[in-house]
Amino acid sequence: VTTDLHPTLQPMFETVLRRNPGEVEFHQAAHEVFESLSPVVAKRPEYVQASIIERICEPERQIIFRVPWIDDSGKVQINRGFRVEFNSALGPYKGGLRFHPSVYLGIVKFLGFEQIFKNALTGMPIGGGKGGSDFDPKGKSDLEIMRFCQSFMTELYRHIGEYTDVPAGDIGVGGREIGYLFGQYKRITNRYEAGVLTGKGLTWGGSMVRTEATGYGLVYFVDEMLRADKTSFDGKKVVVSGSGNVAIYAAEKVSQLGGTVVAMSDSGGYIVDEGGIDLDLMKEIKEVRRGRISEYAESRGARYVEDGSIWDVPCQIALPCATQNELDENHAASLIENGVEIVAEGANMPTTQAGTRALREAGVRFAPGKAANAGGVATSALEMQQNASRDSWSFEDTDARLREIMQGIFGNCMTTAEEYDMPGDYVAGANIAGFTQVADAMLALGV
Ligand code: GLU
Repeated sequence: VTTDLHPTLQPMFETVLRRNPGEVEFHQAAHEVFESLSPVVAKRPEYVQASIIERICEPERQIIFRVPWIDDSGKVQINRGFRVEFNSALGPYKGGLRFHPSVYLGIVKFLGFEQIFKNALTGMPIGGGKGGSDFDPKGKSDLEIMRFCQSFMTELYRHIGEYTDVPAGDIGVGGREIGYLFGQYKRITNRYEAGVLTGKGLTWGGSMVRTEATGYGLVYFVDEMLRADKTSFDGKKVVVSGSGNVAIYAAEKVSQLGGTVVAMSDSGGYIVDEGGIDLDLMKEIKEVRRGRISEYAESRGARYVEDGSIWDVPCQIALPCATQNELDENHAASLIENGVEIVAEGANMPTTQAGTRALREAGVRFAPGKAANAGGVATSALEMQQNASRDSWSFEDTDARLREIMQGIFGNCMTTAEEYDMPGDYVAGANIAGFTQVADAMLALGV
């Protein structure tokens, strides 16, 4: 975090640093939004008078709790649980739970902060929040996962509800975990309150397309960018980092739209399959076997690279879908050298600020995660809508809604960027459009 901010914003940012010591990811996420807000403070003095920016940076409520659970050997293990209820101006707090050893308050706050603006951009009535634990699901048995989820919910249940706070999945939390969490919520409360969690299974209140939504939505967003340039995915080489839920369904939609996904990765390395990744095999390995991506290379004879960067694989479109800060300025330089045209973020904040700057200075079209990956949470809001009306929609109808929502977000980013004299700047467009929507609601609701 280096560049100076607008003189009105700099002291506000310093307050964020002082109040949240050591939380570097949160500082980064806040700085990235602050950089876009200079024209807003000039145009909207009422936001400054009402201290909207300082208020947005301070979560409404932060919950930290102990999660004790019993492993398969009978030993008691202790993890730490978090839920940061960041902003409820637009609706109940909404955002995923991340189970990963790197999770601490700074990660949860960065994710929750991003979620406020992302959720606003969807146009749906959802506020922003995030949670998780430093629990590492890797190598745990199914019963250990269940016991952990039950213990986590034994504390969390008292803080959430369909009108209060609605968690979902994120890294390390998928359909299986949501099932165990929902089961425990139902057991404790004696309520079949389907709208308390999203990402549920299709037979017990889940929505069609929720599993695919973040990846599909990302590709719908990129499709809009391509259309604006009068081109398409046809014949384009695409690199997708990661091999989780976002990456797999982004890759699937890319190939449906005529692009070729040539590389994917996991935390151990990356594979290159020039003919296009075989997604049935990838799903088998990652979703059924819960295995490593190296197994793909063993079965298909593709190239597996253990030490190195997936961003060295030449492509026209790069979709970082793994985790935060996975694409820095050196990776950006390599992508630029190989002729990348578009970078769109499927993960949350996968590009560092220096990486983003390098790409944009080189004229690469850049779509920030809070716009491009909003399809996941938007479809969560559709799940809440179906739960509230005790209804369930078809795959086609839900997918069509998702596509419309992504087109809406793209249009909103474009027009906002134009309105503030930064045509084509999707970062400014997304930050300003998301921010002003929340800020106006906060003004209306009083102090
Ligand atoms: N974890 C997802 C995100 O980063 C989805 C959250 C949700 O569906 O509530 O947006």
